[in-house]
This record gives sequence, structure tokens and C-alpha cells, in this order.
Amino acid sequence: KILKSIILPVLMLCCTILLQAQETNPFVEELLGKMTLEEKIGQLNLPGSGDVVTGQAQNSDIAKKIEAGMVGGLLNITSVEKIKEVQKIAVEKSRLKIPLLFGLDVIHGYRTTFPIPLGLSTSWDMGLIEKTARMAATEASADGINWTFSPMVDISRDPRWGRFSEGSGEDPYLGSEIAKAMVRGYQGDDLTKNNTIMSCVKHFALYGASEAGRDYNTVDMSRIRMYNEYLPPYKAAIDAGVGSVMASFNEIDGIPATGNKWLLTDLLRKQWGFKGFVVSDYTGVNEMIEHGMGDLQTSSALALNAGLDMDMIGEGFLTTLMKSVEEGSVNMIQIDNAVRRILKAKYDLGLFDDPYKYCDINRAQAEIFTEDNRHFSREVASQSMVLLKNENQLLPLKKSGTIAIVGPLANSKENMAGTWSVATVQNKSIALLEGLNTVVGDKVKIVYAKGSNLTYDAELEQRATMFGKELNRDNRSDAVLLNEALEIASKADVIVAALGESAEFSGESSSRTNIEIPQVQQDLLKALLKTGKPVVMVLFTGRPLVLKEESKTVPAILNVWFPGSEAGLAISDVLFGDVNPSGKLTATFPRSIGQIPLFYNHKNTGRPLQNKEGKFEKFTSNYIDERNEPVYPFGFGLSYTNFTYDNLRLSSDKMTENDTIKVTVDVTNTGDFDGKEVVQLYIRDVIGTVTRPVKELKGFQKVALNKGETKSVTFSITIEDLKFYNYDLDYVAEPGEFEIFIGTNSDDTLKTSFRLEMN
Ligand code: BGC
Repeated sequence: KILKSIILPVLMLCCTILLQAQETNPFVEELLGKMTLEEKIGQLNLPGSGDVVTGQAQNSDIAKKIEAGMVGGLLNITSVEKIKEVQKIAVEKSRLKIPLLFGLDVIHGYRTTFPIPLGLSTSWDMGLIEKTARMAATEASADGINWTFSPMVDISRDPRWGRFSEGSGEDPYLGSEIAKAMVRGYQGDDLTKNNTIMSCVKHFALYGASEAGRDYNTVDMSRIRMYNEYLPPYKAAIDAGVGSVMASFNEIDGIPATGNKWLLTDLLRKQWGFKGFVVSDYTGVNEMIEHGMGDLQTSSALALNAGLDMDMIGEGFLTTLMKSVEEGSVNMIQIDNAVRRILKAKYDLGLFDDPYKYCDINRAQAEIFTEDNRHFSREVASQSMVLLKNENQLLPLKKSGTIAIVGPLANSKENMAGTWSVATVQNKSIALLEGLNTVVGDKVKIVYAKGSNLTYDAELEQRATMFGKELNRDNRSDAVLLNEALEIASKADVIVAALGESAEFSGESSSRTNIEIPQVQQDLLKALLKTGKPVVMVLFTGRPLVLKEESKTVPAILNVWFPGSEAGLAISDVLFGDVNPSGKLTATFPRSIGQIPLFYNHKNTGRPLQNKEGKFEKFTSNYIDERNEPVYPFGFGLSYTNFTYDNLRLSSDKMTENDTIKVTVDVTNTGDFDGKEVVQLYIRDVIGTVTRPVKELKGFQKVALNKGETKSVTFSITIEDLKFYNYDLDYVAEPGEFEIFIGTNSDDTLKTSFRLEMN
């Protein structure tokens, strides 16, 4: 009893103190020792850049706060000149000369923009994705930024949610691989270099599961689903060494993430061992008031005590923590811990050695938006495009004859970079029309008409457009626009229709209840199809759309997402076959909005999903008015060539805990083009102590195959690939049968199985 009640706890306390002592950083501790409480609280404050004007930063309101030690970092400054000036105020005018963090949403490139993150994910190429993050860090750091709010790793299965575009789709395994690649890309292997920056994984946690896909909405989820399906990508980022974490806006188990102790301390720090700092999302602390957690002082104290270290924008910490310390609702240990973590991040970035390490104006001139970077962006964009349909090999197009290019997105520079392209110079993005002219203009006659505006509803467009930006609408009537398009189409051999969403239809605060192509564009498309000319639809979108009609009526569909600054060139590369498309969907495209949430790795019910062929049968898990399957499943994407799979084989049909089983398949390129194929491995745990998904992605390889070539593709399966969180949330593998599926998408696979035997 004495052992249990006295000796063990004392021993544990000693161990904790020893461990903490080992982890403390002498520089940080010394600095902490010199700080007043006001200065400590100041480090926890992350305001916006406010009114800073180049050459006059000293006169801004924020300058006074920085001088007084009331600021730990600044949000949303872009320009090395400004950042240098502001940093100078911190390190020359504030008492302790502590440098500032400069944070920005560099989420798919900086000035050189890459496809939106959802588009990056459809490349299934981790090397490429890591390199985009590396290049983004190089450009952003050359412009003074030392901290990026990326990667966004929220799993989502609801494409009504506008922020679908910012993540990597519906799958936790793929999402985890991408999370690691991006953290590696931003942070490199040495954060003290001047071209690596601190990454911030977000939005912790479950933000992508907001009810009804409405942004910022409530989340309610069982722990077992969280652990198995939604948390893995955040954990992967943490295991990859991400320096910071952003708390999400939503609640979890009835407590907003910003003030959720279970989430920010028990799970994040105690279970996962995260050592970096946690920042709130934009006014996340203040929003706890509306969530019903109490006034600003109460909410701020709750958040700090839960494990939040830095308060973005709202200044709840700055204005109330002092009082809370006096009143005893917050203690100094908690404040010191938060300050320590932020100072440690600055230390790790090397800012105490050289606060201006990111302020080299020469670098800004030489390393941003370079030819090489733009060339790479073009390559990445072409690798991310997904060929959804290609009847009678309409694509690739011939480099001859006349092409009519039609649609509101055909000549639309401002829409090419997609959401969160905060530093992009929009008018330098290359629209499709310009790209076509550059790539094939000397061989092909290209005629253009807009055909329609983006929507019939200017008000809707304005609502989607951030900060009241002026809309680029054509004032001519719908009929005039349409007739002009039909007129030029009549002279063409083939029509390319550039349709879909505007960049602002997805992203933050852009949820939609209707995820079809806007009606005016559907009408344009129908009219173009009626001409009898072959139509290729180039689809721009930030989310899976409902394409039930188009998938039947349009002969060829190339989904290009929002491809980034080199959009027009990259699309042309693919349309004319200079690049063979190899992207595969990372999220299911539903047949109807009523099917949502629809995802491949679902569970079985006790009733079968009978209506595969569209047949309805009573008392099965069906709708009476729609089939169960999607239009395009997870992992789907065509190529200009064909791939066949055969000879699926296992190195053994039994496995014990320490074995590795090898599973091999032969993939042959049977078509007329060289190409790349994403070979996908799925596993099903047939019987479990809890219900298990019908299949789960557990591996993939992107292989290049010349025409006629066969390659044997091998995956190694270890017990780690068979583990999951059980009812008690223990991470285990259970003995029994496992089915293995390998194929070209989640719905089209070969199948075999083996048994796991445990001693
Ligand atoms: C978004 C975050 C973003 C932050 C800072 C918020 O509104 O939810 O994703 O990082 O703003 O710009």
C-alpha cells in the first residue's frame, strides 16, 4: 500500500522533473527568468499586421505594442522590406529584444502557386508534394516569412464543405503520407537554415467533419472513429516533427477545441508527446464566448489551462490573463510553459542568433517566382489532373485544325491559383486561352468566346468573393454570350469547354448546398453538346462535384482542380498529350448530394448494398430514388493508355507477428502511350472485435510504364499495416483473415487473402 500510495507517485514526480530538466533549454530558461509577467503574456499574443506601411513601420500602432513587449508574432505580413522593419523594432526597441514570428497561410506555394492541396493530393506523388512545400518555404522565407499555417490535414467526407479544397481528401492513410511529406518539405532537416520555415499542422482536430458541411459547424464523433479515421494525419505530422499545431474552431465532445484539455494536453502532449506550441485559429479564443463557454476572461483562462499557447488575433490572452493570474484561475506554471514553447520555437528557428536571417533582400529578388519554380509548378499541375472520362479516345487532341475554347473559366487568370493564394500575383497566372496559344498557337487555330458568366446569380458570386472584390462579369445578356459561343463553335473541329467553380466557391466560408456545375454553365454545355461537335470539358473545382449528368453526356472530362500559376500551360500539356494524365481522385464523387457522406472506406451494415446494377430491393441499405455507388470512386483516374492487372500473388498465405508478407501484382501498359499508374493496395480485416471498414488503403506506388511494358509491383505488409484502435482505444492487430485488394482504383481490384496467426 505504501509503495502504491507514496513511493510510486514520488518516483514518478522525480522522473517527470528530471525529464523536464533534460528538455529545458538553458538559453530559453535564462530569458524566461528576466521576463515580467506582462512580457510573458505578450509572447502569447499573435495580432494581425494592421497598419504597417513600408518605410513607416515605426509609426504604426502595432509598433508601439511591439516596443512594449506585447507581441509574440505577427500574422499576414508579406514583403521582406516590411518584415525587416518590424523585426528591427522588436530587436532594437523592445526591452528584451525578442524577435518575432511572422506567420502566413502559405498552403500551396507562395508567389509561384501550385495546384490547390486537394489537387496536389491527386498526384499521389510524395516526392513531388514534398518538393512543392520545399519550394514554397524557399520563396516565403526569401520574403521574410518564418512560419506557415500548413499542412491542413483535416479529413473530410462532405464536399459541401468549402475547405475540402485545402486538404487531401477522405483517406487517413494517404492524408498521413501527405502530412509527413509537407512537414518535411517546409521544415527540411535543419530549421536554422534561412530557407526552411516552421510548419503548423491544422486544424486540430476534426474540423473537416462539421455537421452538414457547413463551415465552423459542430462536430460530434465517437472516439473510435476519431482515432481510426480522422486523427491519423495530425499524428503523422507530429511524428514528422511539426513545430506547431493550430486548434480548430469546432467543438469536440461539447468543448471547443481551443479550450479542450483532453485534446490539447491529454491527447496531443501526453499521448502523442508533442513538444511544440499550439496556436488558436483566427479569434478562436473569442469565439468560445459564442460557443457558450463564458466571457473573454473565462474563455482565455480555459484555453490557456487546456494547453493553448498562443492567441491569434483576438487578444483575449493579452487583455485578461494578468487578471486571471491575480485571481488565481491561471497559474504561473501554465503561463511559463506556454512562453517556454514559443521561445523555444524562435530558438529552433535560429532567430536569437540572427533575427534577420529571413530578411535578405537579394534572396527575395533572386529566389521568388523564378523560371525554374514556374517550370516546376507546370509539371506538378499536369501531374495532379484527373482524366474522368475519355470516350473514343477523344483526348489527346490533335495539334491541327480549329479549336473553339469556350466558358467562363477559359480566359480567367484570377481563378487559376485557387483559394488561399495570398501571395500570388494573380495577373501573372496563365489562363487556359493564353496557355493554348503558347503551346499550340502556331499549329492550331484557336477561337474563343466566354459563353456565359460563372452563374446566373451575381449576388451569389459576390457573396463567395472575399472582401467585396469586384466581380469580373460580362454585362452582355446570357443569350448574346451563348450565341457568340455557338457561332465560334460552329467553325471548330472540337470544342473545349472550361467550366466549373470559381476559385472563391471553395475555401474558407464557402460551403455550398448545391455542388453541381452552376446552372448557366450546364445550359451552355447542353447547347454546345447539341452542336454535335466533340466536346472536351476542362473542369475547374475545389471539391468533388455531382457530375451525374455530365458523366453521361460529355465525351471527355479532364478535372484540373485549380492548377496554380502555370495553369494554362499545364492544361495544354495534358490536352495535347505532351503529358499523359496520371492523377487519381482522393475523394469520392457522389451521384447525388443526398448520398453525402459517401466514402469508399465505409463499414458494412447488417443489410447488403443490393442495388449494384441500379436494381432496387426492399429492406436493403438503399435509397428508393438513387443507387448507392458514386459516379467516380476514390482512387479513380484514367490515362491515355490502358493498364491491366494480373497474377496477384502472396509470398505466404499465413503471417505471424514478426513476419513480412509480400504481395505482388503484374501491371502491363497495353495501350499506345507511355504512362504512369498509381497501383493501390487495400486491406480488409474480415472479422474484428469491433466492426471494420470494407477496405482501407494501406499502400500505393506510382509506376512509370512504357507502352507494352510489364512491371511486377510488390508491397510489403507487416503487422503495423493491420493495426487499428479497438474498443478500448488500444492500437492492436487481431488474428484472423485479411483480404488484400490491389488495383487501379478502390472499386476495381484483384483480390486475395491471408491469415494472421498470433502466438
Ligand atoms: C483559418 C486558418 C488560417 C487563419 C490565418 C483562419 O480563418 O481558419 O486556416 O490559418 O485564418 O489566416
